[in-house]
Amino acid sequence: MGSIAMPSSVDKLRSLLPASEVFEQHQPEYKKQSEPWSVHANQHPKVVVQPTTLEGMQKVVKYLYNSDLDFAVRNTGTGSVSAKDVRNLTAQHVPDRDASQLDAERTRSYPKEVILSTHGFKSFNFDRATQTVTLGSGFDWGEIDKLMEEHAPGYAVVGARCPWVGVAGSALVGGLSWLSHEFGMISDPQNFLDAQVVLHNGKVVWAAQDDPDLMWACRGGGGNYGVLTALKFQAYPYPEKVFGGVLTVPYSSLQQCSKGVSAMAARTSDPKVAMHVINQGPSMGMPEQGGKPGIAFMLYDARGEEHARSEDGFAWVFELPGAQEISCATCTLQQMHAVAETFRDWQGNNLFWLCAPLVSDLDEEFMLRAWKWYEDSVKEYAGLGSGSIVLIEYMQLNAFNSSPSRTSTAWPHSGRRHVMQLALGCSPEGAPSNLKEIVMKRFQVAEDELAGSKKTGEYHAGFLHEWNDLKQVYGENYERLRELKKRFDPRNRFNKGVDLLGGKISEGATL
Ligand SMILES: Cc1cc2nc3c(=O)[nH]c(=O)nc-3n(C[C@H](O)[C@H](O)[C@H](O)COP(=O)(O)OP(=O)(O)OC[C@H]3O[C@@H](n4cnc5c(N)ncnc54)[C@H](O)[C@@H]3O)c2cc1C
Repeated sequence: MGSIAMPSSVDKLRSLLPASEVFEQHQPEYKKQSEPWSVHANQHPKVVVQPTTLEGMQKVVKYLYNSDLDFAVRNTGTGSVSAKDVRNLTAQHVPDRDASQLDAERTRSYPKEVILSTHGFKSFNFDRATQTVTLGSGFDWGEIDKLMEEHAPGYAVVGARCPWVGVAGSALVGGLSWLSHEFGMISDPQNFLDAQVVLHNGKVVWAAQDDPDLMWACRGGGGNYGVLTALKFQAYPYPEKVFGGVLTVPYSSLQQCSKGVSAMAARTSDPKVAMHVINQGPSMGMPEQGGKPGIAFMLYDARGEEHARSEDGFAWVFELPGAQEISCATCTLQQMHAVAETFRDWQGNNLFWLCAPLVSDLDEEFMLRAWKWYEDSVKEYAGLGSGSIVLIEYMQLNAFNSSPSRTSTAWPHSGRRHVMQLALGCSPEGAPSNLKEIVMKRFQVAEDELAGSKKTGEYHAGFLHEWNDLKQVYGENYERLRELKKRFDPRNRFNKGVDLLGGKISEGATL
């Protein structure tokens, strides 16, 4: 990033597209197409370009790649990727840097940076004969839920549970779905069949047909091999209605919950049954608990409500002392996913970091330790109580064990079962300048505090940080991925998030 961008670089970029596909900082669409999930990651890029045709994307990718402009590829911003125009940064955006560090950065010369948005790619086609869906890379999974219900009733694709998550971004880092319990991860070869990719030189390929190595790298390799414009997925015949339930349980039942979750993990291998167990933080109601984090269960049962309420399902959860049904109903997949919709408002409003250690075993004390980890984190900075989450993603074995081997996708993920989803966040108002440091320390001790001697040392590839060792994350696939990076990105210009040639995670991206 050595040279200074001349104004003409941005002007030339603008000239490649119609004015309606370029968003400047004063335009409302600029905010939508540049805002990252977490406030701290917002680097206030100079301009957003959003080609809506393949030809436009080809021209822009080729130009950007060979220019002196730095750029980030983005769809929804959930991965918090950004690009900086450092002169606009304030301490509020980067509370981990003090005023003198900011001044020093401002006086250095930076190129003006660019967001390349894939939001304009919104084609959708369901092919009933092959039971496949080909969709544009500009969608989020909530939009796909609606389109599937409309055009492919009785079928489902393995897509993210949170409806705001982008289709390409999730496939590029692995991707987990309520359907993963039956069919594996979003990126598994039986699910993610093909990708249309604009390469650095502007050439377009369908990766599975034209270059299987590239397809392999796109399956969980973290992205940065080109720009995906369309993705092809397997669809499966699937019940049109499932059971979805949210129940809350008071903190006083924590021990019983912990034993129940452990017993269920040992007992149940039904691929149509899964659950999330999440803290109901002090700020999320129940003041009668004296500021203690209660428990919320999110239940999923594709065999229907009767099964969900039976001994084979979640009867023990409904019978927990103090259990209150918040919303328990037969619903469509779209409605199931919509339960998480309220969190969408967090985008761009909070400081927020995520970390997801993988867990093999949920012993009887696991939840007790997880809730303690959460409470100890809030003790470090009380503000974290307003935006933090400890979430056990209780998975069935198929989720991480459905691809043929650890080398069949770029992220080797077989062998593990559950995900510990840890999120620490708060409002930027009043946050201490060393907040990021506090958060990273809490993440780094989490595995030991939660799993102790049973820790796996493995982390979900979608939530990595500067301290994660990429060699360990990609294991036996690391060197092959680096070789492919040299072929598909010889100048290491696709370098946000997982930067394999730099050997690191770039600041901000992937949270
Ligand atoms: C609150 C929250 C909830 C989540 N829930 C889920 C979930 O339910 N299931 C799940 O699987 N994951 C989930 N994730 C993780 C999510 O999959 C990753 O953050 C993913 O990177 C988001 O992709 P995106 O396109 O939405 O985000 P973006 O920030 O737009 O993109 C993230 C990165 O993906 C790459 N990328 C995106 N689009 C393209 C493209 N077309 N071509 C090339 N590269 C591209 C870029 O490198 C970019 O930096 C969640 C994350 C958060 C923060």
